[in-house]
Amino acid sequence: MLQIVIELLFAAVAVRTVASLGETPDRRHRLLALAVVSLALLIMILPIYAGEGPFGRLTADLEIALFLLSGYGLIMFRDSFVPFSAGVRRLVVAAVGLAAAAALAVELVFGLGATPPAQQVVVLAFAIGVWAVCLIEPILTFWRASGGRPSVERARLRTLSAGYGGLLAVVVLGSLPLSQVASLLVDVLALAIVPALYVAFFPPAWVRRIWRQPEEEQLRLALHDLLLYSPNRATLAQRALSWAERLVGGDAGLVVDGDGAILAALGMTHDDASRIATALDFAKQNGQGGQRAPWHDGSTLVVPLDLSQGRGAMVIVSHRHVPLFGDDEMGRLRLYGTSITAGLDRVALNERIASLEKAKSDFLSIASHELRGPMTVIKGYLTMLESGALGEVSGSARSVLPLLIAKSDEVDWMIEGMTEASRLEEGRLALKRHRADIVELTDSAIESVRFMLTGHEVRFEQHAAPVETLVDPDRFLMVVRNLLSNAAKYSTAGSEIEVRVGKRPESAYVTVVDHGVGIALEDQAALFNRFSRVRNTEHVQGTGLGLWLSREIARMHDGDLTMKSEPGRGSEFTLTLPLTQ
Ligand code: ADP
Repeated sequence: MLQIVIELLFAAVAVRTVASLGETPDRRHRLLALAVVSLALLIMILPIYAGEGPFGRLTADLEIALFLLSGYGLIMFRDSFVPFSAGVRRLVVAAVGLAAAAALAVELVFGLGATPPAQQVVVLAFAIGVWAVCLIEPILTFWRASGGRPSVERARLRTLSAGYGGLLAVVVLGSLPLSQVASLLVDVLALAIVPALYVAFFPPAWVRRIWRQPEEEQLRLALHDLLLYSPNRATLAQRALSWAERLVGGDAGLVVDGDGAILAALGMTHDDASRIATALDFAKQNGQGGQRAPWHDGSTLVVPLDLSQGRGAMVIVSHRHVPLFGDDEMGRLRLYGTSITAGLDRVALNERIASLEKAKSDFLSIASHELRGPMTVIKGYLTMLESGALGEVSGSARSVLPLLIAKSDEVDWMIEGMTEASRLEEGRLALKRHRADIVELTDSAIESVRFMLTGHEVRFEQHAAPVETLVDPDRFLMVVRNLLSNAAKYSTAGSEIEVRVGKRPESAYVTVVDHGVGIALEDQAALFNRFSRVRNTEHVQGTGLGLWLSREIARMHDGDLTMKSEPGRGSEFTLTLPLTQ
């Protein structure tokens, strides 16, 4: 019974091997099919006793041939993973050929006697020895090669090593004269070997999943870091490639960008990478690259990357230790490819945004610098005109001078805001703090923008005593002026603007309250962002820099700028600063 089950199982593995040869007719599959089919046939023929006649002799010859063929197939299968030198390969062929020829020769000369002559025993021992070497060598090589490999490769190589080991054990133990119980045990071992061999040659998806388990978490974390923290596309591609290689056990690889340029190459020279990239382009023209799913051609696996700037690809050249890209790996690579595509596109977008931001900052810096000179001249002459230093000015001209001066102040502050913003961006904004009374400072801020506040009633509710803080007075004035001008800009003429200065146990504060348009809840979150302007207020002149800059300045003082607002009812902005001891 046990014998029959073993035969059936071996036959099943043989059928599977032949089927997989049909799917992938390469050398490795041919060798595997040769090894497993000859083993299966041998196992089926062995129990048949055909007597000592010509048929019996033919059967014995066939057994020897199948036996040695299986050894040859197994060691050459190993060669397809870890290649031998040409000399060793020739030696293997010679040894197997010699063993077969010698075995046939002694059989022809001596026949199948019940007590074989010494020559026959020696030749048979030689044949078994050759076969054993064909297994022992791969057992050791597979095991050695598994060291330091990623988990899937390691497990696969070790399983192959164990499978070969089991096979060797069964044959060696089976050829010894054993008691009935022992040979029963050998049969049970043979029975257990078959599934192990199957798993070694065709690891099912669930087994590969188990093999992968130790790395799964690592991969998840790595992917997260990869996608979030890669500073540029080349780095992302490089890191992604090394993980893809681990995932399927690649030997080398490259990432081709949407425009055909090589984004990253690993384990190969740039020339090799260009050659593969060009070949890939050729494949694309032939329609093969048109498909979205990963595809492979021999040992080269291509994962298409549908990048926003065009179709790129990640190419992995398989490792010689990992023979077959299974469906499971392909599925994983497809998902992985999607993540990498998204990551590369995101980095490209970030790079574009960063360059736009930089252009904006550069413009801010240049514009504020260039405007400053002419404005100083305009303002200087206006002041001289007003003071009469340039002679008498007619009455009607004199009447518009204060407005012109106020407007030039306004432009000046705008330029000042732009200059400060670019300083802040470049990390050059340094505070000049000293002890000052913010009641007094707020009062002078109100006075300086009085002209802008006309049409509004300003109610200044001040603390009876001075409120002293360590503050940069110019920057403080800038923040309060900004809050006041916003309160005026975003409320209807005639409405009241309330300014309160006071202190709490730990901090001093300035609050500016208006009864204007207010700010919708959904706009409040982005209010303090650079260049942020709320919808529906675009018609009011402004740069969107003021609140951002004000809050940054407040925070540099170890304080803050906060706000409360109700659409249609008004807003309240509060600047808090730490009190001096
Ligand atoms: P700017 O006023 O130059 O546009 P700010 O940074 O000072 O820039 O303000 C950003 C945006 O916040 C403004 O465009 C406006 O939409 C909104 N905002 C600021 N202050 C008020 C306020 N007091 N009432 C209503 N909306 C305001």
